[in-house]
This record gives sequence, C-alpha cells and structure tokens, in this order.
Amino acid sequence: MDRRRTVIDCASLVIGSGAGGAVAARALALAGDEPLVLEEGPEVSDADLAARSPAENMRRLYRDAGLSPIHGRPTIAFGEGRCVGGTTVVNGGLLWHPPADLLARWAREFGIDGYGAEHLAPHAREITRRLSVHTQLERAHANQDSRLLAMGADALGWRTNGARRAIRGCRHSNRCATGCPTGAKQSMALTYLPDARRGGARIHPDTRVVRLAHHAGVVTEVRAVGPDGEALSYRPEMVFLAAGALGTPVLLQRSGIHERTAGRRVAFHVNVRLHARFPEPVRARDATIFTTQLREFADLGILVMPTNLTPGTLAAGLAGHPPHVVDGMLADIDHVGAYTAQVRMSGPVRVRALPGGGRLLSHRIRASDRELLRFAVERAARVLFAAGAVEVYAPERRILRRAAHVDAFTARADPRRWDLVSVHAMASCPMGDPDRGGMCDGYGRPYGFRNLHICDAAVLPGATGVSPQGTIMAFAHEIVARHVASALPVRC
Ligand SMILES: Cc1cc2nc3c(=O)[nH]c(=O)nc-3n(C[C@H](O)[C@H](O)[C@H](O)COP(=O)(O)OP(=O)(O)OC[C@H]3O[C@@H](n4cnc5c(N)ncnc54)[C@H](O)[C@@H]3O)c2cc1C
Repeated sequence: MDRRRTVIDCASLVIGSGAGGAVAARALALAGDEPLVLEEGPEVSDADLAARSPAENMRRLYRDAGLSPIHGRPTIAFGEGRCVGGTTVVNGGLLWHPPADLLARWAREFGIDGYGAEHLAPHAREITRRLSVHTQLERAHANQDSRLLAMGADALGWRTNGARRAIRGCRHSNRCATGCPTGAKQSMALTYLPDARRGGARIHPDTRVVRLAHHAGVVTEVRAVGPDGEALSYRPEMVFLAAGALGTPVLLQRSGIHERTAGRRVAFHVNVRLHARFPEPVRARDATIFTTQLREFADLGILVMPTNLTPGTLAAGLAGHPPHVVDGMLADIDHVGAYTAQVRMSGPVRVRALPGGGRLLSHRIRASDRELLRFAVERAARVLFAAGAVEVYAPERRILRRAAHVDAFTARADPRRWDLVSVHAMASCPMGDPDRGGMCDGYGRPYGFRNLHICDAAVLPGATGVSPQGTIMAFAHEIVARHVASALPVRC
C-alpha cells in the first residue's frame, strides 16, 4: 500500500460535526473562512434513515452500535452518535438553554467570565430560531405515557413541565433515537451543517482524525485516515476540536496535549429504565419519546420522563425476567409505558486512549450516587403508581404491584446490580481557571495553545443536570464568536 500522505492546506479545520462542531462550521463559514469539517462517521439522508430498520440505523449511526462499556460496578452502557451531525442525529431533540443559576455557579466556581445567561442569551435566541425550538404539545390521541406521568405528578403535588424540542412537524414516529425518518427533528445534519455548506464549508465524512502534531503551542498538522484507508495530512491555521466529550480527550491524549488532565474526570448523567403496566391503553408506540418531564427533583439532578418503547426495547429492558413474563408484557404492550429516571452523578468517568486505537472507559460512582439512584427509582415508581399503574417493573427484575412495596424494594436495592445507561457525558477538558481544575481558557483553548479551540461537550465546566445540547451549542457559539472577533494572527 502507498504510505505517502496527501497534504491539504486549509484556513480552519473542524474535527467532528455534532452539536459543537456544526456550530463552529457554520459560524466560521458565515465569517467567510470556508472551513473544512472532518467527520469519522458516514453521511446519511432522511431517505436512508427511513429505508432501514431502527436496529440497522443503531449499528450505522452509533459508535460501538450504541453500547460502549463504561467499566465499574455496574458496567454502564454509553451511547453516542458517529455520523455527520453527530449525536444530534440520534438524540431526543430536547433543547434546554443553559439554566441561569447553573451558569452563575460555573462563573463563581471555575472563574470564567462572559458565559452568564445575559452573555449567552443572543446565542440561545439564534439556536431557538434556527432549530425551531418550541414546547411540544400533546396530541389528542398520543403521548398518553406523558399525560399519565403528569397526572401522577399532579396527584402528588409534584412539578412537571412540557418538553422543549428542536422539531418541525413531528409525526410521532417514535424513532428519534435511531434517526428521525421524516426529517422533523432539527439535527445538525439538517440545519447548521447545510448553512455551513452554503457559506462555503466542505464536509469530509468517513474521515477519522488520529493525531494532532504541534510545536511551541501551535498545532502544525492534523493526521487523519480517509474513507479508503488513505493517510491524510491537513495543515490548518486554526483547529476547532469537537469530537465529543470522550473523543476530544482521547485525541488530546494521543497527541500529547494535556494528556494527564484530558479525560481524567468526565461528568455524566445515567439513566435507569422502568416499565409500567396500566389498566387503560397507553399505546406508547404511537407517541414521540415524550412531551412531559417530572422536574420536582431537578435540583438534586433527577429528572423522570417517558422514553421510547418498541417491542425490541421492551424485550431488551425486561432481560433476565422469565420468558413467560416477557411474553405477557409483549402481548400487552399497548398498556405499557416505558420511563427513565435520569440522574446526575458526582463520581466521574475516566477515558483513556489505548495503544492501537481503542479507548477504555471506567467510572467511580460513589455511595452518594447510589443513594441518589435509589431515591430516583423510588420517586419514579411512586409517581407511576399515583398515575394508576398496576405493575411497575423495577431494576433487579423486581415487579412492584403496590405503592406500599416501593420503600421495601428501594431500601434493599443495590444499584451496583442495575442495568444503567448513559447518553450524556461532559466536562472532560473543562473551561476554567487552571487553579480550579480548568484545562481551557475562555476561548476554549487548552492552556499553552494558540490555534486550538475545544468547542464541544468536553469544554463545559461541569455537568448540566438538564439535557446538554443547548448548553454545548451556546458555549460553541461564544467560543467561535470570540475567535472571529479577535482573529489572532498565528504563524505556523
Ligand atoms: C440516545 C440519545 C438521546 C439524547 N437526547 C438528548 C436530548 O434530547 N437533548 C440533549 O440536549 N441531548 C441529548 N443527548 C446528548 C447530546 O446529543 C450530546 O450531548 C451532544 O450531541 C454532544 O455534542 P458534541 O458536539 O460534544 O458531540 P457529538 O454530537 O457526539 O459529535 C461528535 C462528533 O465527532 C465525531 N468524531 C469523534 N472522534 C472523531 C475523530 N477522531 N475524527 C473525526 N470525527 C470524530 C463523532 O463521530 C461525532 O459525529 C442524547 C444522546 C443520545 C445518545
């Protein structure tokens, strides 16, 4: 094989095309910079998504088919996208702007300036407009799972709120997590990236960056492997790194950039799934993922919401139950709702680049995290019984048949035996004062680097508690706006 490298010169290079990378690509294109975007995954159209089954899309659009193990007790399955548009192609389309109190706390704790709610408000407005973000209303005959959650919460006097989503003309096909087949979800692939292309950006799919070469605080070369395995060498003036909360620190470690700090403490949320059987029809399959969230315990980092239900997810979620139980639930699927409790962890994940190209994820969730998980499941089960559930399928293959059984279950339950998943990782290369654990300055530059900006989930100072896409995008907008405004000349 010809081992020679093709050398490509460019002004600005964006690595990764998800929530952060797409914002950078669009802003740079609008500034007349004609950026080049390198994306490891494939480019897929709505027609492609519609033509294939959810299982096929899962394998094609996710890294490790959606099941990257985070080792620990228990081993947690991590899901992230790997395609043009990144994880926004497979996410739920929920779009929350960064909460003002969270931004104020980050400013205090991490010593960052100019990222308060008032500074990010113009970006939030732009995101809302471009992604058609609005509160999704329930339809008369669908989203009964959300309505039941709201009813249960009302009965207990707990707060809920409507979901704000990035959608246009949602047809409730319930396939958000394997790529919207109708083009309703306003992922980066349908919004920011087409804008970027119109402004002169080029996107190279199936192109994996392997290393950043640097000298004296300047990235001089970005090495990549192209669609046919060819070795590529890019020589950009400016690099925007947005390979995701795990991909970004892995690349930095491979490149010897802040390799001892990058990816050492990754903030994350975990999800625990419950199924509830109701006497009345729920028909959760005819719904969107959800339209209502239980927010009563949001200050503790706990949210409860419906999640998507198909025969496949139901069977997988009941793994370990005897076959007749699974068969019974599948036969009665129209009376079943699937719910998830999302919990912010305080014990971090660590990501390490392995020799030969792999990565190793491990976690150290703490006793206090386990306590919070137990509490979250207890509250979720309680609200489902208040909504009229006759059975709640809880972790550890336990079937609860009365609200009175919930306390006894959670008192003995051990989250180290639960099936947990995570789809939100953040803050692996945090912005902030170096004396307070920060790795990047207010421009997203790793300290000591002049032409490298991190502008994805990795650069957030901590866990958001809410769905992170809106916060990631707002930070990326601000990072690129600062760069464009200053346009520091750099000699390579
Ligand atoms: C099932 C699911 C549901 C979710 N639902 C929501 C939701 O409703 N609302 C919300 O706010 N968040 C949600 N999220 C999370 C949210 O989508 C992500 O946090 C967000 O997209 C992260 O943005 P990012 O730019 O950091 O990374 P990503 O969007 O993941 O983009 C990173 C991109 O970089 C590429 N890349 C990585 N390494 C390389 C490399 N070496 N070379 C080239 N390219 C590379 C990847 O292939 C990927 O396309 C969900 C996630 C999942 C998995």
